[in-house]
Amino acid sequence: MTVTEAKEKLNELELREFAYNHAMGILYYDGTTGAPKASSIPRGKTMGVLAGEAYKISTDKEAVSLLGFLREHADELDADTLRRVELREKGLKELNAVPLETYIEYTELMNEADAVWHEAKEKSDYPMFEPVLKKVIDFTKLFAEKVAPEKSPYDYCLDKYEEGLTMAKCDDFFAKLKERIVPLVKRVQEAEQPDDACAKVFFPIEKQREFSDILMERIGIPRDRCAIGETEHPFTTDFSRNDVRITTHYHEDAFLSSMYSVIHEGGHALYELGGDERFSYTGLSGGVTMGIHESQSRFFENIIGRSREFIGLIYPDAVRLCPELGKYSVEQLYRAANKAEPSLIRTEADELTYALHIMVRYDMERQMINGSVNMKELPEMWNALYKEYLGVTVPDDKRGILQDSHWAGAGIGYFPSYALGSAYGAQYLAKIRESLDFEKTVASGDLKPIRDWLGDRIWKYASSKKPEWILNNAMEAPFDPKYYLDYLEGKMKDVYGF
Ligand code: ZN
Repeated sequence: MTVTEAKEKLNELELREFAYNHAMGILYYDGTTGAPKASSIPRGKTMGVLAGEAYKISTDKEAVSLLGFLREHADELDADTLRRVELREKGLKELNAVPLETYIEYTELMNEADAVWHEAKEKSDYPMFEPVLKKVIDFTKLFAEKVAPEKSPYDYCLDKYEEGLTMAKCDDFFAKLKERIVPLVKRVQEAEQPDDACAKVFFPIEKQREFSDILMERIGIPRDRCAIGETEHPFTTDFSRNDVRITTHYHEDAFLSSMYSVIHEGGHALYELGGDERFSYTGLSGGVTMGIHESQSRFFENIIGRSREFIGLIYPDAVRLCPELGKYSVEQLYRAANKAEPSLIRTEADELTYALHIMVRYDMERQMINGSVNMKELPEMWNALYKEYLGVTVPDDKRGILQDSHWAGAGIGYFPSYALGSAYGAQYLAKIRESLDFEKTVASGDLKPIRDWLGDRIWKYASSKKPEWILNNAMEAPFDPKYYLDYLEGKMKDVYGF
């Protein structure tokens, strides 16, 4: 076999993997949007079969020997192919960690856990969720032990979502955040609070749907490649750079909730849509890590979406669709959208207190994976941490430990990406300001210069580079949370006038 032939074979292999992922992704998306409730059982069976077939394709003799061949000829490979080889090696290690039956059992558990979590959350019944959570934790520990025995299990989890992330790095990052965010929250609480009546006006859902289309257009989403659906918990899923789906959830008396979820998921979508075409159907397509993904979504949601200029931009359409809003000014809406207040729900949290919600989960996960916890005591642990970090009392598990879907999806180690992503975004902003007038650009309504900046430095590389390389390429400096803390302080001063 020549290197050229091997590269051809690699393309064929990754196209087949793409096809299975595409099919499974559509099933998952259908399961969360249009499919009836009882469909989860047959869908679980189908997913189990498809996941088993995909597993075989990726791990069979031919795929393994192809990978070995490419590794042997590493010095003859271009950078993209070499990165594909590296990523495949990492993935193979994960897939080979457990026998096929265990892998299928795990896939089926994911489907079951999601359904159980939904019901448990609805009923605010942690004991109902506890046995599946226990299984998820056990699986996570098993994978950690098999894939990366040299690491502490939670470091393995962190690295899964943010290549290279460790507890040591997280500890340092969160300590820096705590040092400035905690006193800032105190100052904000002592200041006069913005009147947020404008955020509670009755905004008919039909009109909010129209508003979502306008928001997607405003941030520059090509609608021929991105559709929007409705789910209980908003998310983004990508099938290819030509097919990304975002979802939202409408509340008629809290339009900002849907507005910011559309902009957030829209940020994820833009990242996926902005990958270079040459990575399509290969292991290099799609965003590189969750931290960098969240840095895009949270950049659009907060840095652009919660700016005075962006709010001014969408205000006329918002008033047209909901005339009652016209009683309030842009400035009132801006202050309401930026009101900071310790609360119970992470996804509804403001920019300032958001990271504190993440710290609760980081502390919990660390103990769940590295230590040995008493499963029955997890809600108490959660509630105590909320009291400590946010000063709020958790009234029930629905608004406590059961609020997020991540653990049901085995997303242990994912949460720190949100806080890191927010911090990366603030450092991009500082860099963007060196070459363009950010406020003026947003106010103009043409965000193309900002999208181009992100596209050229981040999006187009998809997964073809390591995350540190991409961050450095964007920031031209090492990552420093100082930018994020300065940004938060500046924003709070502006909103609260202290
Ligand atoms: Zn997100």
